[in-house]
Amino acid sequence: MPGYYIHIPFCRSRCHYCDFTSYADKKIKIDSYLKALEAEFKLADILSKLKSQNSNNKSQINSKISKSQTLKFLNIKLKKLNKTLNSHNLLPKACRLSPIVFDTCSLRGVHSKPSKAQSTLYIGGGTPSFLSVKQLHKLLEIINLHLGPIKKFKEITFEANPDSLSMEKIKILKNGGINRISLGLQTANDKLLNKLGRNARLSDFTKAYSNLKTAGFKNINIDIMCGIPGQTLQDLKETLFHIIKLNSAHVSIYGLEIHKGTVFYKKKIKPDGDMAFEMYETARKTLTKAGYEHYEISNFAKKGYQSKHNMNYWQNGEYIGFGCSAASYLNGTRSKNTKNLSSYISSSLKNKPLLEYSETLSGKEKLGEQIILGLRTKKGIVLDDHIFIKFKDNIERLLNLGLIAIALPPAYRLTGDLKIQKSRYTGQAGGRVKTGRLKIKPKHFYISNRIFSEFV
Ligand code: SF4
Repeated sequence: MPGYYIHIPFCRSRCHYCDFTSYADKKIKIDSYLKALEAEFKLADILSKLKSQNSNNKSQINSKISKSQTLKFLNIKLKKLNKTLNSHNLLPKACRLSPIVFDTCSLRGVHSKPSKAQSTLYIGGGTPSFLSVKQLHKLLEIINLHLGPIKKFKEITFEANPDSLSMEKIKILKNGGINRISLGLQTANDKLLNKLGRNARLSDFTKAYSNLKTAGFKNINIDIMCGIPGQTLQDLKETLFHIIKLNSAHVSIYGLEIHKGTVFYKKKIKPDGDMAFEMYETARKTLTKAGYEHYEISNFAKKGYQSKHNMNYWQNGEYIGFGCSAASYLNGTRSKNTKNLSSYISSSLKNKPLLEYSETLSGKEKLGEQIILGLRTKKGIVLDDHIFIKFKDNIERLLNLGLIAIALPPAYRLTGDLKIQKSRYTGQAGGRVKTGRLKIKPKHFYISNRIFSEFV
């Protein structure tokens, strides 16, 4: 089932390291943005209805008429459908050329609405909690109206910053069906928070966290950072100690990266790679010892609290993004909405969603991407003949460097020099595909980019 993502690109101010799509001086545009979001949801709604109508017709005729009759009928239906869509200016140009494209292109920007029974919803940003009480009500209302009852999603995450998460907003979220909160702490050291350009201080975080618990939220993620300029190992240990004491369900840890255009970049601040590595290792060991499972490079969870939404990304599952700069992956096509706020609002309100890019991967490239995503997780990826044929040399190189752990499918064995030998070809046996698993050893997660480079 695809996951749903909604981007809220507004913040009180810009943190000094931030290169996410967020605007600090556009509070005035939030109401129009919500209208534009609603317009984008509506398009998904229309598409969903048209598509399900089309597939109903397809299944009815399949049982009654011949293949050629089916194709003729289908083409008429698809032409009609395209006409309808074109009249709403719904389709990107490349998707309007032939009726057959309805079956083969992703229709990004005009997604059909899939079933939600098993879906996840993630409201991220920016700072979604920066919305006012009234705007928050509006956001939940339009989600309920166009994407279906929020409570039907199996996991609904809402990103928040402690300085904009009042008890009143927390109650709205709880009553509205949100069941997971991702709270940005970054560090428990106020001086470092100031250095990062963050608005909240530790006391704000402690208050917001306690309010969330009082309101009944059990599934809370805390974001922290390592490699902050001036941060010592002791600072990080104190942050970890704080989190462990709170017993939060989930922790995400990110190493500071310096991106072009940020305050840190302009100040020519450079992250200390060696220190960041030591901190990451300390966090990994400390959190694991405290009962968190290190289930993905940057993510740690108490039993039963892995992020379902993000697991879908790492398992190469489909997702649909709404809003400025939101990314989508459907039918093998990756795409992204424009990150320009004004362009997003005006195009969406005119029912002409604007894409920044769209690409459909295939062959080795697509397989490589799937491997890279899967290797981010502790479970790794399932190995099959397909992967061996395309990446045997790369896997052997990583094996020789000791960077990966491998459980070979029964049809394969390792020779003394760690060469993979295919002892016999069985392919399918007893109706079951014989597979093994490929994983990054947790102690090498930190250099995962080196490992990923083998699959690009
Ligand atoms: S709160 Fe998050 S999105 Fe907003 S400026 Fe800071 S890092 Fe960027």
